[in-house]
This record gives sequence, C-alpha cells and structure tokens, in this order.
Amino acid sequence: MQTALTHGLAASGSILGNGLGLAGAPGFPRADICCLALKGISTGVVSFSNSPVYNNETHNYFSAANVVQPACVFSPETAEHVAYAVRIFNEANCSFSVRGGGHLPVPGSNGKNGAVLLVTSKLKTLDVRGKTARIGPGNTWTEVYRETDKVRKVILGGRIGTVGVGGLVLGGGISFQGPEHGFSCDTVVNFQVVTADGQIRNANTTSNPDLFWALKGGSNRFGIVTAFDMKMYPLSKVTGGTITYQYSSLPSVLGQVDIVHRRLESNPKASFFVNVMDAGDLGVGQFVEVVLYYGKPSTGFPAVFRPFLDIPGIIANTVSTKSYSELVPNGREGLPLGVFSHTWRSLTYERSAVVNRKIAGIFQEEVRKFREDRGSGLQPGAFTFAYEPYAASMLAASQKTGGNALGLDGRGGPLMLVLLTYSWINQTEFASRAAAVKTSVERMKRFALAENKHVDFVYLNAAAPDQDPFRSYGQANYRRLRDIRKMYDPKGVFSVLQAGGFHL
Ligand SMILES: Cc1cc2nc3c(=O)[nH]c(=O)nc-3n(C[C@H](O)[C@H](O)[C@H](O)COP(=O)(O)OP(=O)(O)OC[C@H]3O[C@@H](n4cnc5c(N)ncnc54)[C@H](O)[C@@H]3O)c2cc1C
Repeated sequence: MQTALTHGLAASGSILGNGLGLAGAPGFPRADICCLALKGISTGVVSFSNSPVYNNETHNYFSAANVVQPACVFSPETAEHVAYAVRIFNEANCSFSVRGGGHLPVPGSNGKNGAVLLVTSKLKTLDVRGKTARIGPGNTWTEVYRETDKVRKVILGGRIGTVGVGGLVLGGGISFQGPEHGFSCDTVVNFQVVTADGQIRNANTTSNPDLFWALKGGSNRFGIVTAFDMKMYPLSKVTGGTITYQYSSLPSVLGQVDIVHRRLESNPKASFFVNVMDAGDLGVGQFVEVVLYYGKPSTGFPAVFRPFLDIPGIIANTVSTKSYSELVPNGREGLPLGVFSHTWRSLTYERSAVVNRKIAGIFQEEVRKFREDRGSGLQPGAFTFAYEPYAASMLAASQKTGGNALGLDGRGGPLMLVLLTYSWINQTEFASRAAAVKTSVERMKRFALAENKHVDFVYLNAAAPDQDPFRSYGQANYRRLRDIRKMYDPKGVFSVLQAGGFHL
C-alpha cells in the first residue's frame, strides 16, 4: 500500500479519478467520498460511527461543547498520509477539520459535524536524543516532559500536561520558561508541514522562511504541521507548586501580584499565574491559587516569591523541589476532561495594580449577577478568573529567533493577560454563558481603556469565538499573514475547505 501511496503522491493526475471513481457520483456526500478514499491508505486509519476509535476520538475534547459527529475520523500515521489526505480534500472539495490535543474550547475550531475529522493522535514521534527535539503533534506535554526529564532538559510547552503540542505552539505558547526564552513558537527551529498543494515542506530560517514566520502564531491557517523541531534547554530539578488561599485573601494576593510581576524582568527563571476559583455550585467552594515556578532547585522558598508567603489565609502550600514532569499536572483537578463545557474570553493590558484590583471586583459582581439572574435554573459549574503575567523579556525574545507573527516586542513593557472562564456540566447554555462572559470582559476592557492600559492584543489560544486574534497582531503583520497565506494556499484549502479556526 505504501508504494501505491507514494506513487499517488508523486503522480500529477487525479487520485480519486484513478482510484475510486466516486468523485463525480451524484448524491454521494463529498465527505463520505473522502473517507472511502482515505480508507485505502492503510488498515485502521479511518474509523466510522459506532466504532470504539470513532467514539473515543469524537469525545476527546477538553470542552464537552466541542464534541462532534464527523463523517469519519482519519488518524494518519505519517506525514505522507497527511499529504495524501490534503490532495484528496483538494480534489473532492471535502470539508475537513484538524484536531490535535483538542483543548481549544472554541466550538467548531477542531471538528465539524459531517466533515472529515483529521486527528493527530498517531503522529507521536518524540525524539529528544539530539541537540533539538523532534515532536509529533499527537503528543501531550506530559508525554514530552517525561522524555525531556530523562535527559535533564526542558522544552517550552504547556503548564497543564493534557494540552496538545500542535495547537499550543501554533498559537504562540505560554510556558513557565517564557520570561527567559519567549513564546514556545520562538523556540521552534523547523516545522515539518503539509501545505495546501499536498507537499511536505520544511519551514525554517533558510527554507520557506516566510512560512516559518507565519506558523509562529498563524495557527491552522497555513498547513498541517506533522513535526516540530524545538530547542531544548538544560534543566534538572525545579522549585514550584501551588499556594492555595482563602477567597478573602484575594485583595492581598493581588497586591503582591504586581510586585512579583515587576520582579520577573530581573528573575528570568521565575514565572507564575493566579487562579481565582468560584466553584461553590459544585461544592468545591471558593479559593485563590498562585501557581509558582522557579527553574532551579532551591533549599528554601525562592526569594522572588517571598511576598506570596507573607499573606494570611494560606490553606495549602505544595511548593517544593521536584522534577519538571512532577510539577506540571496531567489534568485539571476537579474538572475532568470532556465532562464540562467551557466558554472563555481574554483581555490584555499593561501591567497595572489598579486594573488588576478593579477587574477582580467586576468578576465577582458579574458572577453574583449571573447567579441571581439564573436563579434555581443554573446548571452546576465553576467560574474561574486567571491572571497570567507576561514579562517584557518574554515579548522581546522573538527578535533573536527570526520573529513571530504575534506583533509584540516588549517595548511597551510587561503585560497582563486575564482569562475569564465559565464552566458547566450540561452541554446546553453555551450562548447565554458566552454572552455573560463577554459582558464581563467588555466591562473590564472599558476600565482598562479608561486607565489608558488596554492593549489591543488577543492571545489566540485564549480567545473567544468572536474575538479576532489575527487582526490584533497589528495591521502590518495581518497583511503579511494574508499575503503568505495566498502564496501557499491560493485556493483556500485551509480557510475554506477546512472548517474551524479564526478568520484570516
Ligand atoms: C486546561 C488548559 C490549560 C492550558 N494551558 C496553557 C498554557 O499553559 N499555555 C498556553 O499557551 N496555552 C494553554 N492553554 C491553551 C491551549 O494552548 C490552546 O487551547 C491550544 O489551542 C490547545 O492545543 P491542542 O492541540 O490541545 O488543541 P486543538 O483544539 O486540537 O487545536 C487548536 C487549534 O489548532 C489547530 N491545530 C492543532 N494541531 C495542529 C497541527 N498539527 N497543524 C495545524 N493545525 C493544528 C486545530 O485545528 C485547532 O484549530 C490551555 C488550555 C487548557 C484547556
């Protein structure tokens, strides 16, 4: 079969016309034609409704609101399989979507009813023996860190282990090592990518450099990445964990957030984020978590984070020296994968203690109002508000590695990303929850604007469906992305045939 496949790829003629003869069959759904054609590649790469693989893959999403019923699930095992599929999609005009780790909670961004669902689950290359690592997009970050731990190195990736490699890196990627090395995408030295013409290409500083730049923030608009070659950095044990506080400690925690945020510039081995959790409806209660990372072993509590230790109301403190794979949890405690639906929205502003404090108040007021409005009809769920500080050093780092598409350079100083998430058990209610989240974040944005702190950057990996990350990269970058897209994908395979993804 491999020979036939290779021959098929090399041939300039029709794959479908020579093979199945179904391309023009009247009344035969296009996606079904593609599913049948893909089936010929190899045993076990295509799964249909009611099979265990289909059932498993179509539910393999962080958010239950993303679960889909595609025509079939296609699980390529090699880059050649992906290339062959793209040629089939082209020829038969099939609608398809691409799913990596399935963690982007934007419904439709990683699957569509009735289309072909290409999942990267079997693209599991993971080689950390060389100077750089080669990572297939089907790996989760936990799988990556278990390997890098063995060679006492680290790769810049997710801070929760279940997240997929593909989506995180292509959207930018915020890691614990960001202040020292930049976004995850800045540490990619080469993308192996299947472009719209079904060719397998390398994109790096010398080969397809424009595509290399575009993939660093361009998400799924430029091709299907089949391998990431990424830098590795020496790392033995790290010091980190979570300090959990009573909810009433929130004002004191926020007071220290700004102080420690300021310290990140001179402490590039340190990073942190804060979760404000209101899960009273689930019986989990309300609390505040500060998740700390210091990229070295430490005999005592890292001095840079000392202000967090002096706050009264600590319920638990897990900060200790450990391996990196021990530090990064493999799940999100309390919220199992695929059970809850989630809707989230983010906001970015210049570092500001005043904005940090005010918008926490808006979060609390809006949650209270939402609960009152919904009364007893409220589905059990949780309301989470996260503060994710960006050091200016992280934003500036990309300039040393050929740049990225995100349009941030650190010249405006450090930034804060906040992420508001409503999570609930029932799969319905998406529209009303998303609207409530939008109202809250728009209120926060008005305050940040009034304080002259708002920054028009939308982090794609934390964006709501109606947010516009690509335009937020700045007009010049937006235009450049569109020009590159037209060059590599003039027919719009990844923007028209591919369902899902942010508009470009
Ligand atoms: C619990 C949780 C923790 C998170 N932690 C972090 C964090 O620490 N840092 C951070 O930056 N973000 C974080 N995120 C956000 C995360 O980066 C995004 O949700 C990201 O898109 C997930 O990637 P994925 O492969 O799992 O998702 P998917 O939903 O599978 O993919 C996201 C998008 O990328 C596309 N895509 C995926 N793989 C490929 C590929 N190989 N080629 C082309 N397109 C592809 C998909 O089509 C989709 O549109 C977190 C999200 C969750 C839910």
